[in-house]
Amino acid sequence: EAKARGKNTYRFFSQELNDAANERLLIESQLREAIREQQFILFYQPKIDLRTETLVGYEALIRWLRPDNTLIPPARFIAVAESTGLIVQIGEWIILEACRFLARQVSRGYAVTVSINLSARQFHDNNLPGMIERIIKRTGVAPTALVFEITESMLMGDTDAAIKQLNQLKRLGVSLSIDDFGTGYSSLSYLKRFPVDELKIDRSFVKDIPDDQNDMDIVAAIIAMAQKMQLRVVAEGVESAAQANFLKQNACYLVQGYYFSMPLAEQELSHLTFTIKT
Ligand code: C2E
Ligand code: MG
Ligand code: MG
Ligand code: MG
Repeated sequence: EAKARGKNTYRFFSQELNDAANERLLIESQLREAIREQQFILFYQPKIDLRTETLVGYEALIRWLRPDNTLIPPARFIAVAESTGLIVQIGEWIILEACRFLARQVSRGYAVTVSINLSARQFHDNNLPGMIERIIKRTGVAPTALVFEITESMLMGDTDAAIKQLNQLKRLGVSLSIDDFGTGYSSLSYLKRFPVDELKIDRSFVKDIPDDQNDMDIVAAIIAMAQKMQLRVVAEGVESAAQANFLKQNACYLVQGYYFSMPLAEQELSHLTFTIKT
């Protein structure tokens, strides 16, 4: 009986694997087409400063707009783009597009920053700093208005190489942020060696505030640590006034989240007005 079950289990998993492999292949070929047909679009999520209650920047977040008008979130295709290497091309487009967006915002008179997510493969690419430098020159944006977000896991492994890459990027004048902070394995001693400017507290620590005392303690500790290390601190995933209040009271002033705004297409941003009550 155990044998029969084992056999079924095997067949079940091999079918699953097949489906997953097929799905991956399908996504890969569709991604190549998406690159050719320019089916990607960047959405922008406002970053708010609670002290001044103003919009201080945007985070660029990619979406895939299929010809049938469905909008595919990055969780469905970034990993495939990463493992096939297609992310290098897509990533270059993201940086160029985000810089063009920044240039348009500046020309409209808005002093904002733009944060750009980097994938692991992109981050470890030796050509990245040069590519960013060329895009900065080509679009005429101020490098100080650009923030590149990486995750803790990208800094692990060969830390010397990671530090070298971070320094190359810093030399361009851009700032560097550790995204999803607290979910990775970075040790605090490493953190001090990395030339980063900002920590983004992961949404998972924010979502149960003010009901979860543990999470509130963790968030308060991250904020205190960031201050001590003279790092900027940003909270992501803020969905309520209570969360915004908690963050403000604990001196985390930079926030993003649905409470303020979802990520939006550029043409929707002009209609944004903020009434921030905390
Ligand atoms: P992330 O960089 O941590 O981005 C935050 C994600 O949380 C975004 O999902 C955003 O839409 C979502 N979010 C923002 N505020 C809230 C909130 O209040 N509540 C909730 N529940 N969610 C919120 P999105 O756009 O689906 O992106 C998911 C992840 O995909 C990103 O996480 C990032 O790791 C990756 N990603 C997105 N765009 C890019 C890109 O241009 N390049 C690369 N390499 N990765 C990207
Ligand atoms: Mg991010
Ligand atoms: Mg994040
Ligand atoms: Mg996150």
